[in-house]
Amino acid sequence: MTNMRALYQEVILDHNKKPRNFGKLEDANRFAVGDNPLCGDNYTVYAVVGDDGVIEETAFDGTGCAISKAAASMMTVRIKGKTLEEAEVMVEEFRRLMTGKLDPDDDHHLGHLTVFEGVSQLPQRVKCAVLPFHTLHAALEGKEEVSTEGQDDPLG
Ligand code: ZN
Repeated sequence: MTNMRALYQEVILDHNKKPRNFGKLEDANRFAVGDNPLCGDNYTVYAVVGDDGVIEETAFDGTGCAISKAAASMMTVRIKGKTLEEAEVMVEEFRRLMTGKLDPDDDHHLGHLTVFEGVSQLPQRVKCAVLPFHTLHAALEGKEEVSTEGQDDPLG
């Protein structure tokens, strides 16, 4: 667990200093705005989905805390080149990881995103980590706005 925590801090710091795929994606055919008013996280997630259902490009912009930004950055890296179905599987797996229902030692498609496992111990930060995935899910479903506000579901 000590190693995992060190890796977590390193990854969060790195992705905050140099967020990957950060900026507006002008030719996006899917996008959604995600808002987490409890923390002040607000991001737009963009994707270019091809006719074959493959996510060809993805990006995000906006502002928020270190956890949400690192999660968004790592998520865009992870879903690029994946199909819509594969992306939705990852969204679901990440939600399960954040609610302690997914064991990182079991089979999953999250790769290094499992460094966020520790966040599941911090209920007030779970929404921060999940927000980018929640927003991606909305974008892929064709919704353009989501908010974690006023929802009983801890995952927003
Ligand atoms: Zn946050």
